[in-house]
Amino acid sequence: MRKIVTVIGARPQFIKASAVSRALHSSGRLAEVLIHTGQHFDSNMSEVFFSELAMPTPKYNLGVHGGQHGAMTGQMLEGIERILIDENPDAVLVYGDTNSTLAGTLAAVKLHIPVAHVEAGLRSFNMRMPEEINRILTDRISTWLFTPTVAAVKHLRSEGVASDKIIAVGDVMYDVALHFSSQVAETGGALSRLGLSSGRYVLATVHRAENTGDAARLEVIVAALSDAARKLPMVWPLHPRTRGVLQRHDLLDKLAASGVRLIEPVGYLEMVQLEKYAALVVTDSGGVQKEAYFFQVPCVTMRDETEWVELVEAGWNRLAPPDDPETVTAAILDALGTRGREVSPYGSGDAADKIVARLTADLGN
Ligand code: UDP
Repeated sequence: MRKIVTVIGARPQFIKASAVSRALHSSGRLAEVLIHTGQHFDSNMSEVFFSELAMPTPKYNLGVHGGQHGAMTGQMLEGIERILIDENPDAVLVYGDTNSTLAGTLAAVKLHIPVAHVEAGLRSFNMRMPEEINRILTDRISTWLFTPTVAAVKHLRSEGVASDKIIAVGDVMYDVALHFSSQVAETGGALSRLGLSSGRYVLATVHRAENTGDAARLEVIVAALSDAARKLPMVWPLHPRTRGVLQRHDLLDKLAASGVRLIEPVGYLEMVQLEKYAALVVTDSGGVQKEAYFFQVPCVTMRDETEWVELVEAGWNRLAPPDDPETVTAAILDALGTRGREVSPYGSGDAADKIVARLTADLGN
């Protein structure tokens, strides 16, 4: 049987990889070995997803986290290279745009092992974002570019990528959301625990370096969310990096005083429940923007640009760059109660099956 090594390390990658792992397992044609780089390591940022999403336990955990981008990527590269030499796989599978994605890709390609990139072709056109650098480099040297959207296909074509490398499959996050959506209810779970009523609260998340690493932007976000929280209940599961930065800037108390419910990161099922029954989602996350749409909830994205442009075009999502608190609060209040156009940009919920079918066909038995 042919062998694939999957390299993952961050929360959204565990979620995306769960769909493909499930499809690989049920096809029974390709063996999968998982490497966890250790980028996310708290149990509520890592372990919970393996148990909830029935992911196999990684055979390897490199324990690499913290530090500067160069050191982190370098340590991952060294660890992954060693494992790839031992495992000698037929292909390496990577997801998204993190340092784990880039390290897995570089290690494999230098050993002449072909790489499959899931979520290929996304672009923000903002080269100050570490994610943009990681995804451009990964796309440039991967063999299979599995794209989630029409925009992603267009980007790769305009960069001159050969069309036989671009495989339009849809979004694996949509596969996962469809699979788990029916498992959450409008009452109970996180809603009861937090005293929230369906359709009567805002769900916020913030974690992106361009916001957490910039004190001025972070202050705008805190001011805007505090203001909105005076009008509608708001819950904010805090990414560990964001909690640390808010603590350093003495902003946690200000947020709590305005009524924002600051909670620890939640598992996937609780997050799906919080998203599905929210009146509005306010975020800087890529995955959360899309999940809001999967559950037909309007979204405000606190960034200058987004990779998921089709949701802005369809009216489900609006950009509110965190430059000025009043503009962001106004965008939040404007978006409440709105709906976008009926669109279907992320495939049919079978992206993972299509990925496995293509890899199986190309790798042979
Ligand atoms: N998520 C979660 N618990 C949380 C916050 C997010 O399970 O407390 C999930 C969310 O549902 C989505 C993914 O994590 O599937 C998004 O990850 P993140 O925002 O960290 O990264 P991005 O999507 O921006 O790369």
